[in-house]
Amino acid sequence: MTTALLTHADCLGHVTPGGHPERVARLEHVLHALEALNLKRVAAPLVADDDLLRVHPEGYIRDIRGARPSDGFAQIDGDTFMSPGSVDAAYRAAGAAVRAVDMVLGGEVSNAFCATRPPGHHAESETAMGFCLFGNAALAAKHALDHHGLKRVAVVDFDVHHGNGTQDLLWDESRALVITSQQMPLWPGSGRPDETGAYDTVLNIPLAPGSSGAEMRAVYEAQVFPRLRTFRPELIIISAGFDAHQDDPLANLNWSTGDFAWITAELCKIADEVCEGRIVSTLEGGYDLNALAEATRAHVEELMKAAR
Ligand SMILES: [Zn+2]
Repeated sequence: MTTALLTHADCLGHVTPGGHPERVARLEHVLHALEALNLKRVAAPLVADDDLLRVHPEGYIRDIRGARPSDGFAQIDGDTFMSPGSVDAAYRAAGAAVRAVDMVLGGEVSNAFCATRPPGHHAESETAMGFCLFGNAALAAKHALDHHGLKRVAVVDFDVHHGNGTQDLLWDESRALVITSQQMPLWPGSGRPDETGAYDTVLNIPLAPGSSGAEMRAVYEAQVFPRLRTFRPELIIISAGFDAHQDDPLANLNWSTGDFAWITAELCKIADEVCEGRIVSTLEGGYDLNALAEATRAHVEELMKAAR
């Protein structure tokens, strides 16, 4: 058994204006860092509209498709842009997450990483924001629940920003445990501990600006891992953002590359205990190119060690 890597050249066709942190070079660096690894490489398919419709209304999907510019850029919100290639990229990013669920649940691979962009965890039901168009992690969770019939799925989001989109899309989904840690205060401002979901299945973990990897480990050991073990998900989906890295320009946490390896290894351990190792991870943020590449590689190497 092995680890799958799902990606597509279309994800490099989502172009952002000069100076924008969520840029094509991010994915180029990630793919270069993973080049030498022995992964099962899979071309990400375009997502089916039926999968998108589990989390976004038809009118929103139509609006996003309609917003695609024929050249240059369309500005969707303060920091979210579309280029002519953005719809295809977003369809591949969502399609990768769904296909990864199919592969892991079908026993084709032990776990999977989706190296795609645009990211997804800020996209709410009817609102594109924070560089995100579709809620990739949430729609993967819904696909696992509604299409595959799982009873419990967990999403763990360790991106430095709050996974407000995933929280919004799964707020009233009692079968999905959403755990998201974030620097607070920081954009988008949500993610307080009293935001717990309609069925108490949302766990928000605020982390203080300037806090270290050691502090993160203590909080994850005290709050995140026990909650996961109690919930006993049949699949763990990771929103893997690497912008809590100490070198990242958009935030102020001080995690090392080793901290990302640790968190991944611990999640793999829990997955082994409760769900036969099933993990689907999808790329979210990470804006220092070298830190992103190094931390992503460390993350994927831990997934590979756990694949059996
Ligand atoms: Zn982020």
